[in-house]
Amino acid sequence: MPCRVTTLTRAAPDVAIVQLQLPANEVFRYRAGQYVEFLLRDGSRRSYSIANAPHTQTAAPGIELHIRHMPGGKFTDHVFGAMQAKEILRLEGPFGSFFVRDDSDLPMVLLASGTGFAPVKAIIDHLEHLGSTRAATFYWGCRTRADLYQLDWAQAAAARLPWLAFVPVLSEPRPEDAWSGRTGLVHHAVMADLPDLSDHQVYACGAPAMVDAAQRDFVARCGLPADEFYADAFTSEADKH
Ligand SMILES: Cc1cc2nc3c(=O)[nH]c(=O)nc-3n(C[C@H](O)[C@H](O)[C@H](O)COP(=O)(O)OP(=O)(O)OC[C@H]3O[C@@H](n4cnc5c(N)ncnc54)[C@H](O)[C@@H]3O)c2cc1C
Repeated sequence: MPCRVTTLTRAAPDVAIVQLQLPANEVFRYRAGQYVEFLLRDGSRRSYSIANAPHTQTAAPGIELHIRHMPGGKFTDHVFGAMQAKEILRLEGPFGSFFVRDDSDLPMVLLASGTGFAPVKAIIDHLEHLGSTRAATFYWGCRTRADLYQLDWAQAAAARLPWLAFVPVLSEPRPEDAWSGRTGLVHHAVMADLPDLSDHQVYACGAPAMVDAAQRDFVARCGLPADEFYADAFTSEADKH
């Protein structure tokens, strides 16, 4: 379907938040956590996770995307260069298996790196809208403080929702970050806090290296049943060559 860029804001030096207006005459149905694909002029496609929950469609049909600049990248060079409000794009969706399985009441680990935050935000908003009380801990891993581009949102959600805990983790904090929180690899923080994952469900989203390492280590070292790991890895052209 066609969509139109309504706003384009910079949440961090290399993260853009793009709001897209969808056609008003059809309802776009998706599950919180899923993604859409842009169809580029040359026929290639680029995937982005939807950051807002489905119930928001009733007010104004539109989706929010969090897009990280990959220098030299075909689509994100455009987003961070020439893209402006009112631009028309073509997208298809929804896709993806990164959505909460509501036939389980196991406690959840929501694990994100970088802009993997976007679908987790949609999931938390969705669970709040449903009045869910299912326990969830959200681990968000980034390199530096600036990369935690909506830290306030996540902290406020955890303060508001008794079932939600939030653990931000920085892998490369800079001295000026004055960071007193957790450090290291985000999936290692999960393993330190939850050495036994045999009674958990894990939802992981973001950098392929993080998703792969989490899947491997949680199953091999923390007893996570292999079929309780759900993920969308943000693979790009760089990972395919
Ligand atoms: C399911 C899914 C969901 C996603 N969700 C998000 C999201 O919510 N937010 C987000 O920011 N990203 C997301 N991504 C990643 C996104 O789809 C793009 O891959 C990313 O934005 C890069 O697109 P691009 O066109 O700018 O770069 P590309 O053109 O794909 O290039 C990516 C990088 O690889 C380099 N490169 C290009 N071609 C080659 C080559 N032949 N050899 C080596 N290097 C090469 C480029 O210089 C660039 O640095 C998601 C990916 C998937 C699969």
